[in-house]
Amino acid sequence: MNNSSPTNDQMSGRAPRGDALPYRDERERVIWQAQPAVNPSEYFTLHGDRSWIEIISRGKCRAQGKINLFKRHLAKFFHTLRVGQVTDYADWAYNPYPTGGIPVLLRMRSIRSDDCETELTVPPGTEGMLCIDPDTLPSTGRLYLGNPDQELEQLAALWQLQPMIRALVTRTAPTEGQQTAAAIRAGIINAKVHESRLPTSGYCPWCECDVTLELQNSPANRRITGCPICYHTWCD
Ligand SMILES: [Zn+2]
Repeated sequence: MNNSSPTNDQMSGRAPRGDALPYRDERERVIWQAQPAVNPSEYFTLHGDRSWIEIISRGKCRAQGKINLFKRHLAKFFHTLRVGQVTDYADWAYNPYPTGGIPVLLRMRSIRSDDCETELTVPPGTEGMLCIDPDTLPSTGRLYLGNPDQELEQLAALWQLQPMIRALVTRTAPTEGQQTAAAIRAGIINAKVHESRLPTSGYCPWCECDVTLELQNSPANRRITGCPICYHTWCD
């Protein structure tokens, strides 16, 4: 899906924090209660396929980057957006290479891309550029949210992508026919190879991909022990 405008319904989403959750500071209240009026399509572009959702920054106000989120990580990702606010935003800053397996908000003084790392010039009095990193393999990438004076709008836009993402997830979900075909291929593969942990559904339980097309030409002496797409083991 590209650049489609959200419907009025999608844009009128209520504040994401439930009433039972207190706001931890004034700035958080501004984000989640006031909900800056933004059109998420002005900030981000979405793509989706069988197991991925790709969110790409449109470069507004020096924002940049993209993330590839496995569909099963979406809930975790948006949970971080909701509860990842802390009293002092600078607290987010200081581990540039988190490995905690939980999506994180970071404030960065440099931008990491595939081919180089670029130092940022940040306005005086600010701690750098806010970014969000899924930090949960096989989800990858980073979204940098641009000039600090408009990062609340970027966060709100990211949050307000959810109805569009839900629609994309539904549209790219496997059909019943595709699931049946995957199960048939899985049966053939499992009968053919020497040893196989391939689930009978043909779908990896970790990345939720149909992996049978990748595995269907496996030689008979092959041991199939993990996912050819997300590389997670099936031996646990
Ligand atoms: Zn997998």
